[in-house]
Amino acid sequence: MKHKLKLFARWLVSRVLHLTGLRALFRRSRSGVPVLMFHNVGHPAATDYLPGHMKISEARFERLLRFLKRAGYRTITLGQMAAELSEGRVPDDAVVLTFDDGYRDNHDLLLPLLQAYDATATVFVQTGPMAGRLNWLHHYFWVLDKEGPRRLGELLGERLEKPHLRDELCGLPLDPVAAEYQLKRMLKYELAADDRDRILAAVFAELGGDDAALAKAVYLGPDECRALDQAGVEIGAHTVNHLILSSLDEARQRKEIEGSLRVLESWVGHEVTSFAYPYGRTWDYDQHTLQLLTELGFRCAITAMPGLNDAETPAFELRRIAMCDETPLAEVLCEVDGAFDWFRRKGLELTA
Ligand SMILES: [Zn+2]
Repeated sequence: MKHKLKLFARWLVSRVLHLTGLRALFRRSRSGVPVLMFHNVGHPAATDYLPGHMKISEARFERLLRFLKRAGYRTITLGQMAAELSEGRVPDDAVVLTFDDGYRDNHDLLLPLLQAYDATATVFVQTGPMAGRLNWLHHYFWVLDKEGPRRLGELLGERLEKPHLRDELCGLPLDPVAAEYQLKRMLKYELAADDRDRILAAVFAELGGDDAALAKAVYLGPDECRALDQAGVEIGAHTVNHLILSSLDEARQRKEIEGSLRVLESWVGHEVTSFAYPYGRTWDYDQHTLQLLTELGFRCAITAMPGLNDAETPAFELRRIAMCDETPLAEVLCEVDGAFDWFRRKGLELTA
């Protein structure tokens, strides 16, 4: 209920500010650079199984680019923003567009749009899929799309030896939204990662899923990464297997981060200096992660915590705002102009 109230308040405030033109007033006092977070662009058949909140249609994204251009905003990469902030400059007309995971549509559909509007972006690439390995989340979404949350819970529970978790998985709530929420929370935080990955991979394979084929259809390959890089889009690292880094010991964290860094550097032929934490909440990484990133030569890292970025924002805990198809343009603009940030600084968080 609290969440719904927040969504309503967000919608109402953005409509009022947008329709009255008051939104523009906030831009003058905007205190930092907004970084917007996207995943997929468009709806190619290969990504049908991925949830709507990861997608933005080409038409909506083009509308956003058109608006930004008309309003005098310029897009810069995350690396460029971090460099400016590190010198104490807060560019008042800049916006950063970021795309996580490294989906093929970022090359096929996003790149032509960026080029048409003389815009740029940062794409964070997870490198495991290039070796034909999909992370558990893709197995999860793929089976969820076919079977729904309650049946998926049962399929997983049947394969788990631990009785209390098995019972919980086999008895998810009847309401599909509640069932999906509980299932995802259990998979992320309650099951041991090895158990979770094993049983999800087993269910995925039993239902006819093919890792290598799906990875190839959905993710960027080296050629597409190189083409993006050569077109001025920044390629950033996003680990090998998209695991929660804080759940790993230091040696495994290093493998995850350095593994993706070296592969990406070999693809683009120069150093890669920006990083995005998988899942991106403050509890999804730890002090070891921060140390490793510095040691490996990264210059900045981005979370999924809401807020704008100024010279005081730690370079390895940059903030950004999640976007998708359902985010009304008025709300995107309130984020970009800094209106929601103004409320945030007054103690009212309107970002969902
Ligand atoms: Zn990700």
